[in-house]
Amino acid sequence: MESFVVEKMTPTIKQSESIIRADGVSLSFGEVKALEDVCIDVRQREVVTIVGPSGAGKSTFLRCLNLLQKPDQGHIAIDGKLIFNDSLCLKKKELQDVRRKLGMVFQRFHLFPHLTALENVTLAMLEAGIATRDEAVETATALLDRVGLLKRALAPAPRLSGGEQQRVAIARALAMKPRALLFDEPTSALDPEASREVLSVMKELAQQGTTMVVVTHEMKFALNVSDRILFMEAGKAIESGSAEDMFYRAKSARARAFFAQALDHMES
Ligand code: ADP
Ligand code: MG
Repeated sequence: MESFVVEKMTPTIKQSESIIRADGVSLSFGEVKALEDVCIDVRQREVVTIVGPSGAGKSTFLRCLNLLQKPDQGHIAIDGKLIFNDSLCLKKKELQDVRRKLGMVFQRFHLFPHLTALENVTLAMLEAGIATRDEAVETATALLDRVGLLKRALAPAPRLSGGEQQRVAIARALAMKPRALLFDEPTSALDPEASREVLSVMKELAQQGTTMVVVTHEMKFALNVSDRILFMEAGKAIESGSAEDMFYRAKSARARAFFAQALDHMES
């Protein structure tokens, strides 16, 4: 089953560069096998969504990709460079580089409450030492504009709505010029209107060619925006394929049941 997941990767985009490649990623927490032999191959400009029931290991897998969580086993390469295998141990600086290459957007936005929207975005660049203050302000202003928040740039973070805060968090992740963005249920703490705002920014990023891995329960987004969907359950990558294939022609019984139910909800 596992090798099937890798082989299913869409052949038409094989030529483009691999940004994230993970093979055989496994991790246990005591008795709990959170991940068992999970693989993924994300090419430049691709949007891969990861879906599956709660507890499937989706968050754990995302965290493994940027080594926020160290797997027990497996290989992970970012931008063609091996960052994890059984014997490799990255130095602190190398680890920081990996994290910078993969911008992470979480369910909760973790903005600094004493800073404005603009300052939250500039701070990330200044701390990483990748821009002067003037450059940071210029970049942050452009990014806030890109996520539709230019007018809110000087608002203190706590004054922003949930949807606005999450869009600032996206701008902050983009400020590090990552090779890919990783999203972990970015809308699940938001009301429907705020979710729509955030999803529309994410859709735009996808259309502009941003490489993204998105863990989500937003099945309409998964269907409309993903190049590929990976379905996980109980720590395993059960099946992956194009959005159409997964929603309408999934091979495994579990994925068929999951996507049929999602379609039912979308229609009702
Ligand atoms: P998902 O994001 O798909 O809901 P998670 O990756 O959060 O799933 O969790 C996968 C499994 O690993 C769950 O059984 C969860 O309880 C367990 N798990 C996740 N993180 C930890 C941890 N830090 N310590 C112990 N168990 C954990
Ligand atoms: Mg999760």
